Amino acid sequence: MANRALYIYNTLSRQKELFKPIHEGAVGMYVCGPTVYGNAHLGHARPAITYDVLFRYLKHLGYKVRYVRNITDVGHLENDADSGEDKIAKKARIEKLEPMEVVQTYTLLYHSAMDRLGVLPPSIEPRASGHIIEQIEVIKKILDAGFAYISNGSVYFDVVKYNQSHHYGILSGRNLEETKEGTRNLDGQDDKHSPFDFALWKKAAPEHIMHWPSPWSEGFPGWHLECSAMSEKYLGEEFDIHGGGIDLMFPHHECELAQNTASRGKSGVRYWMHNNMITIKGQKMGKSLGNFITLEDLFSGTGNVLDQAYSPMTVRFFILQAHYRSPLDFSNEALKAAEKGYRRIMQAAKDLKNLPVSQDAAQNPDIREIIEKVYDALSDDLNTPIALSHLFDAVKIINSVKDGGLKINQSDKEALCSLFDDILTNVLGLMDEAASDGNGDLVSGLMDMIIDVRKSAKENRAWATSDRIRDSLKELGIQIKDTKEGCEWTLL
Ligand code: ZN
Repeated sequence: MANRALYIYNTLSRQKELFKPIHEGAVGMYVCGPTVYGNAHLGHARPAITYDVLFRYLKHLGYKVRYVRNITDVGHLENDADSGEDKIAKKARIEKLEPMEVVQTYTLLYHSAMDRLGVLPPSIEPRASGHIIEQIEVIKKILDAGFAYISNGSVYFDVVKYNQSHHYGILSGRNLEETKEGTRNLDGQDDKHSPFDFALWKKAAPEHIMHWPSPWSEGFPGWHLECSAMSEKYLGEEFDIHGGGIDLMFPHHECELAQNTASRGKSGVRYWMHNNMITIKGQKMGKSLGNFITLEDLFSGTGNVLDQAYSPMTVRFFILQAHYRSPLDFSNEALKAAEKGYRRIMQAAKDLKNLPVSQDAAQNPDIREIIEKVYDALSDDLNTPIALSHLFDAVKIINSVKDGGLKINQSDKEALCSLFDDILTNVLGLMDEAASDGNGDLVSGLMDMIIDVRKSAKENRAWATSDRIRDSLKELGIQIKDTKEGCEWTLL
């Protein structure tokens, strides 16, 4: 599998490139994680699932992967600017908590939501507040290289000077003048030599509750610095993949690239990857717009945007149905369609295991072709919607065999079983929800028992009892169907 070529779109070169890791057989991957000051929402699900699939696919291809996804717990100020209140400190002030209580609460909630979405934990999950010393060291290097200056106890990156020898804007494809837009600077501008510059270290105002000692002042690091410091610490001066949402490309990743270059003389990253956003009826999701959907709302069906609850695997399927670089629009209709699709493919995966084989059936060339196409799609910049569409071609074959219209031999069945285990389950991470809550065996054991009780009720002509069992199960979302072979049950 490791010989299979993988192409990924590199934001920096603006083209798909053949993936070649720096160290043969091993991949270093860094993804910007959440700033933990509120409930995990739909916007968190997309990057987490996108890079989870990449992590899983790289491992499936045989690479050893070190996946670092950080937790931002300091330095991320309101409006993503260089001034204003720290998002976590603000929440702590409002809720009368210690900032690290806010961090702990929302980190645990984030982990539990990711767990339900089938997102594997990264190899390392470092926190910004645990790496203040490393961040101070990066600042010292940038100062020594002459690309930063000290001003009233704060340290700023000298963008204008850097741009004389390097291209500030190379990642987001802007020239210096264009980078002024999107660089929000609400106050404290006086300390900066130029509005292009950004903070590496900020002197804490007296009311600022999160601060640390440094050679320049009692203060805190700028938001962009943590990712330069932590990626270098865990992945080295140069590593393979850096991912994140497209909203982080500028200024966050642009500044990170400039910091890396100024402090170590190299940009540090081979492949920059950016996932697109989830919109709601074409609009950006936002608390102020009243269309903000937390993952908890989605899973429980609360909030004014939702018609019903959507299970974590439905949400995962919905996200995988779009290519990660395309925008994805949320609607109840789209989620309901995803729910149907998810159930259809899971039912086929279950049926596949019990499919009867025929010794005399010839090899079916379509099956080998489907397998190749699924791998080709995933290797073509993680094209999960195309991979899924080919898996649905396999579903058609499974259903025809089940209905008796087609025969399958043992080796074809095994090939399909491997495809579903390797790709549907292990790479796309789609699990059978009825079985994945850890009680799968219990549920099927109970269902066998209930069906058995109903069977004896029918044999004893206790029609009221057998109907009551059927109706009560329906209320619980379970449909039972009497067939020639016996009784089958499915989740509605
Ligand atoms: Zn970051």
